[in-house]
Amino acid sequence: MTSAIPRRKTRQVRIGHVWVGSDHPVMVQSMTNTDTADAEGTARQIFELWRAGSEVVRITVNSAEAAAAVPAIWEKLDNWGCRVPLVGDFHFNGDRLLRDYPECAQVLAKYRINPGNVGKGAKRDEKFAFMVEKAIEYQKAVRIGVNWGSLDQAIAARMMDENSRLSQPLPAEAVMREALIVSALESAEQAQSWGLSADQILLSCKVSHVQDLIAVYRDLAGRCDYPLHLGLTEAGMGSKGIVASSAALGVLLQEGIGDTIRISLTPEPGGDRTKEVVVAQELLQTMGLRSFVPLVTACPGCGRTTSTVFQELAQDIQNFLRVQMPIWRTEYPGVEDMKVAVMGCVVNGPGESKLADIGISLPGTGEVPVCPVYIDGEKDVTLKGGRVAEEFQAIVENYVRT
Ligand code: SF4
Repeated sequence: MTSAIPRRKTRQVRIGHVWVGSDHPVMVQSMTNTDTADAEGTARQIFELWRAGSEVVRITVNSAEAAAAVPAIWEKLDNWGCRVPLVGDFHFNGDRLLRDYPECAQVLAKYRINPGNVGKGAKRDEKFAFMVEKAIEYQKAVRIGVNWGSLDQAIAARMMDENSRLSQPLPAEAVMREALIVSALESAEQAQSWGLSADQILLSCKVSHVQDLIAVYRDLAGRCDYPLHLGLTEAGMGSKGIVASSAALGVLLQEGIGDTIRISLTPEPGGDRTKEVVVAQELLQTMGLRSFVPLVTACPGCGRTTSTVFQELAQDIQNFLRVQMPIWRTEYPGVEDMKVAVMGCVVNGPGESKLADIGISLPGTGEVPVCPVYIDGEKDVTLKGGRVAEEFQAIVENYVRT
């Protein structure tokens, strides 16, 4: 799918074998929530995220044990045929870990450094410079990732002080937004002054409120040409997290801002981590920016549908398509653009079904299942009886294969 939305022009940055920037599709990232020291558990979660469609996966590297486990994680993934680029998330002790665990430094494709969580004063510059030196030595990309919750206090204090001396001081939130942007840009400038190429740098400025995120990224986008990673931090659980992230990222993506995205969802206890990947893909696909999995159009149902048959059929077909995609994507290029419609009754069913590549219209309430199926806009067959779901799935599968 080619997007009609013009992208903000950026530099192109390589993260392992994945390129990021305005010449490339907006990339989907995710992050593990396992203890990285648990190599087996972390590798399994990375594998699941990758299978779900994550193109880069970030892992916490917060301790000697975590850094020591990174090469083992990489080896396990390699044995499973998974070569997803890994990003190491470094904070206060990143310099020591990169120094003491050279294999970890080598295996990672990108270092994420939060300049507000490296240290204070001269020590901060020394540690940050060392991490940049390692990125230069190993030729790794660096994301300078500023976060509202861990903003560099020296910059925040300096800017609040400057603001207080203005004849018309700005509101505190506006000063803090500016401080976020300045922290990211000044850190990038520092990294370049120490020899890191501008083509190795990405930026992010994460905040937790939708309007703040939009304002910060609009401003940041106009002041640099580094690729930008978008994400609403602490977006929240369930529908709140999905809606907030989609609202914020949707506005920015529509303006051509954003080169990689992550939907940060707080998982339900025991919940599926891959949901954040699915939501990110669906956001990009529904906006017409990329295609990942054939999308199923389904009506919301109404008083004409008192049974849940059509909702179950829509859900089953969407799940079936998603499970098939890792194989279908390579065997049947373009399959991700396919459109499937599952409609509850004949009011809108035939019309919507004809617009899809394959559509089925169920009979509404209390009737014997008699379901016309449309293929490429023409009525093909009418399914009847209790095996409509299986037969429709077989028709979809046959359509893809032939
Ligand atoms: Fe209701 Fe039929 Fe419209 Fe679905 S297609 S919302 S069942 S009228």
